[in-house]
Amino acid sequence: MHALSLLRAQRTLQSPESAVMAEVTEYTLSRHLEPICPRDDHVMRFEARGIAWKALPTDRRRETMPSYHCNFGGCSVRYDPANGYFTVVLEPEQPYFVEEPGVNLFQCPTHGAWLYRTKDQHTNSHLLWRCPVESCTYTHADPTRT
Ligand SMILES: [Zn+2]
Ligand SMILES: [Zn+2]
Repeated sequence: MHALSLLRAQRTLQSPESAVMAEVTEYTLSRHLEPICPRDDHVMRFEARGIAWKALPTDRRRETMPSYHCNFGGCSVRYDPANGYFTVVLEPEQPYFVEEPGVNLFQCPTHGAWLYRTKDQHTNSHLLWRCPVESCTYTHADPTRT
């Protein structure tokens, strides 16, 4: 029992995911990205206070979190560097994030941020995946379009 819990603790410490999540929060979300929605291929818009909720029902002030939002025909898909593509369910006041299935495939090896799908600025037709950190040039080819 004791050995097992020790093993778990070590694995948590060495887990690359936990180190990565802590790092992502250090970066502010750029307003100049053009993420493409995985459901309908429309460009998503930046919303500085896109997700708002009250930490406690009695709070006057709302907590807010910036994200990109598709909103094409009521599409609810969002993107941010720490969560990748996701949707939000409010139940009833606390936001509950649901990962968009099968979409978040690549992370930047330097920043740990989830890559977003966008148009290749050079060809303007091909899609590729980019790191959301503004100074970063990391990209990954899109596996669905060759
Ligand atoms: Zn959409
Ligand atoms: Zn990066």
